[in-house]
Amino acid sequence: MKCKRCGQQAEVELPSHNAAFCRDCFFVFFQRQVEKAIKKWQMFKPHEHILVAVSGGKDSLALWDILVKLGYRVSGLFVDLKIEGFSEKAREKVEKFAHQRQGHLIILDLAEEGIAIPWVVKYTRKTPCSICGQIKRYYFNHIAYKNKFQVLATGHNLDDEASRLLANVLRWQMPYLIEQSPILPSVYGFAKKVKPLYRLGEYETAAYAFLRGIDYFAGSCPYSKGATFLRYKQYMNQLELEFPGTKLDFYEGFLKKIGPLFQSSVKKNQDLHLCPECGYPTIAPQCGICRLKHKIKNGKE
Ligand code: SF4
Ligand code: ZN
Repeated sequence: MKCKRCGQQAEVELPSHNAAFCRDCFFVFFQRQVEKAIKKWQMFKPHEHILVAVSGGKDSLALWDILVKLGYRVSGLFVDLKIEGFSEKAREKVEKFAHQRQGHLIILDLAEEGIAIPWVVKYTRKTPCSICGQIKRYYFNHIAYKNKFQVLATGHNLDDEASRLLANVLRWQMPYLIEQSPILPSVYGFAKKVKPLYRLGEYETAAYAFLRGIDYFAGSCPYSKGATFLRYKQYMNQLELEFPGTKLDFYEGFLKKIGPLFQSSVKKNQDLHLCPECGYPTIAPQCGICRLKHKIKNGKE
């Protein structure tokens, strides 16, 4: 198969774009998709300092890599979840990546915060992934906001977004649909959040990371077994296989046709105030993370 751009031998085939590329032309394609996302949603300006949440996986490290390549000022944030046999390996990859590129890396250790994921799992009835997601969002936001980063970027890709959209649409989860956008502005105590990889699928970020020589962590979390988000990804993959381009059409179609309607109807954060203990926005007298920390502390005593 020949490269669509230059006619040389292709290395990456992309049926969803009806194209195949050689290594160099694939990098051009990847970069253009990221630039298009940044420009279309005005994610950040050239002088702004970006905090990238990194997990050690292909997506977030590819994001850090491409943003630096595009000339942006970037710092990484790794939240060490303290999941045995998983977190230490992921952390090693992130530290190696930052060290090799002399990138600025912030590490937040959940054990030091009194809220390591294995402890939390014992004290809540929520599923591990839902509580883990809540804790990560809290610290991503907290660190970005407190350290005055202009924007927080995450490595969510098209597969993440399309499968999440499918799950939310099937249950008409309006509060989640309203927030399903590649950009969320900074509002009352919340940092601005962006997803510059939203136009690129998992296969594309993996190919980019591999071809760029990024040594990423490919292991899976022990809590992910049977997680429903993986099932929705599989359903989307089946559709994509039969009808190439479905994921992008589905998600882009949502953003174009329905997204603005949802977003304009949001009455944002009317009842929010800042948690008296940690300063995080909440509608309860104390934020959920501070309550959880107390629960764990009391349970251990
Ligand atoms: Fe957290 Fe679930 Fe991801 Fe594991 S799979 S890191 S518990 S969100
Ligand atoms: Zn709090």
